[in-house]
Amino acid sequence: MSQGPPDILKSIPKVEKVLGWAAKVPELKGLSPARLLKSTRLVLNDIRTDILEKRRDQPPKDEDILAAVTKKALDLSRAQFRPVINATGVVLHTNLGRAPLAKEALDRVILTAQSYANLEYDPFLGQRADRLTPIIELLTNLTGAEAALAVNNNAAALFLLMTALAKDRKVVVSRGELVEIGGSFRLSDIIEAAGAQLLEIGSTNQTRLADYKKASLDPLVSVILKVHASNFRQTGYAGEVQIEELAKLGRERGLPVIADLGSGSFIDLEPLGLRETNVNEALKHGAEAICFSADKLFGGPQAGIILGSHHIVDQLKNHPLARTVRLDKMCLAALEATLLLAQDPKDAIGRIPVWRLLFKTSEELKAEARRLKRFLGPIPGLKLTVIPTQSQAGGGAAPEQNLPSFAVAIESLVNNVPLLEEKLRRQSAIVVARLKNDQLLLDVRTIDPKEYPALKESLTFAWNELVGQPVVIAD
Ligand SMILES: *Cc1c(COP(=O)(O)O)cnc(C)c1O
Repeated sequence: MSQGPPDILKSIPKVEKVLGWAAKVPELKGLSPARLLKSTRLVLNDIRTDILEKRRDQPPKDEDILAAVTKKALDLSRAQFRPVINATGVVLHTNLGRAPLAKEALDRVILTAQSYANLEYDPFLGQRADRLTPIIELLTNLTGAEAALAVNNNAAALFLLMTALAKDRKVVVSRGELVEIGGSFRLSDIIEAAGAQLLEIGSTNQTRLADYKKASLDPLVSVILKVHASNFRQTGYAGEVQIEELAKLGRERGLPVIADLGSGSFIDLEPLGLRETNVNEALKHGAEAICFSADKLFGGPQAGIILGSHHIVDQLKNHPLARTVRLDKMCLAALEATLLLAQDPKDAIGRIPVWRLLFKTSEELKAEARRLKRFLGPIPGLKLTVIPTQSQAGGGAAPEQNLPSFAVAIESLVNNVPLLEEKLRRQSAIVVARLKNDQLLLDVRTIDPKEYPALKESLTFAWNELVGQPVVIAD
């Protein structure tokens, strides 16, 4: 007679028995009994379900059950939001958290967040103060802007601007600038959600001053919005109207010109061959307000910065929405520290990671790639070479403009490089690298030499998993 499910179910080890085995596993020492119990129950439940749904006809072997419980218990205790070794060469990678913070910024975060702090308190006067005062002073000093505000991110900055200035009115935007930023975030949706009506002008590739002039005669128009074409570039027969000309028109018609710069660089990136609208330039050219992300080219924490006239910024500060997008104490600490560094741009290039990565020279990168190759290799079955490659600013900055870089290119004699790419990002030290023409590229622009040992370990583990060899790490 064949065994029915009830008999097979009885052959699944009891919880207490598995817990007894788990108590002898060294890796599980120190984990709380509750966590072990939970992991054991989860694993045994899965086995029960598999048997009832006829995916298996007997329980796994005891040692496999224990291995599953061990893995589950460790997985449950491990944070899923973890550091990543960015070998893509994309300096501002939105999926990888954009700007790594400067050490000075991190120190301030820890110092002020682990204790009470004078977030909204003036210790001299002994009374309540505005949390943004230090940031506003730094921003206005650095840029010469009349007034400043910082909110949760640039999308929030734009939403606040549109709500406060254009609700139930119209916003003029060129059809060539109605961008989608990524993650299905569209400028047109933000404007609509703010209760403003979009007045599209021009064509996809050409918008002229005459188009703005005509549109601004509409009595419902309250803002002219200029948007930086962040993540794409138009070439060929294309034309847009610059801020300077728009500002002149705006003054004639009594309409504020607002510019969403996207990235907003504080320093001149011309030496790198990157054309990006500089924050100071945009203000000098007469935009009444500008907004940009703090975690793109500026290299700070996630925030949206607004700079402009008192007239505009005061309306934003006093709007009820401002409270819903305000910055928390950790962000403020990091932002203040990064702004303090930015006061001395020459020195900041060595201290703000994004600036440092962007300004690495070809010679430095080549030397780093050689050093990384020597550090990693030789690995039997893999061929490592140093090759010139192209890295990018990313994060919607300087689209289509590459930064020459160097990479360690990995080739496999058995052509399983795509699998290696997958294995590399599944290691405990996650490595994200780029596949190109049967090669796996480790672009050194975005790899910190401090990460070399972890990178080597991940590569060794990943490769050995692929070829099924025992892992031996030499130190
Ligand atoms: C990146 C970007 C945004 C969105 O900024 P977040 O800080 O991610 O909200 C908005 N507009 C432009 C032009 C951008 O490049």
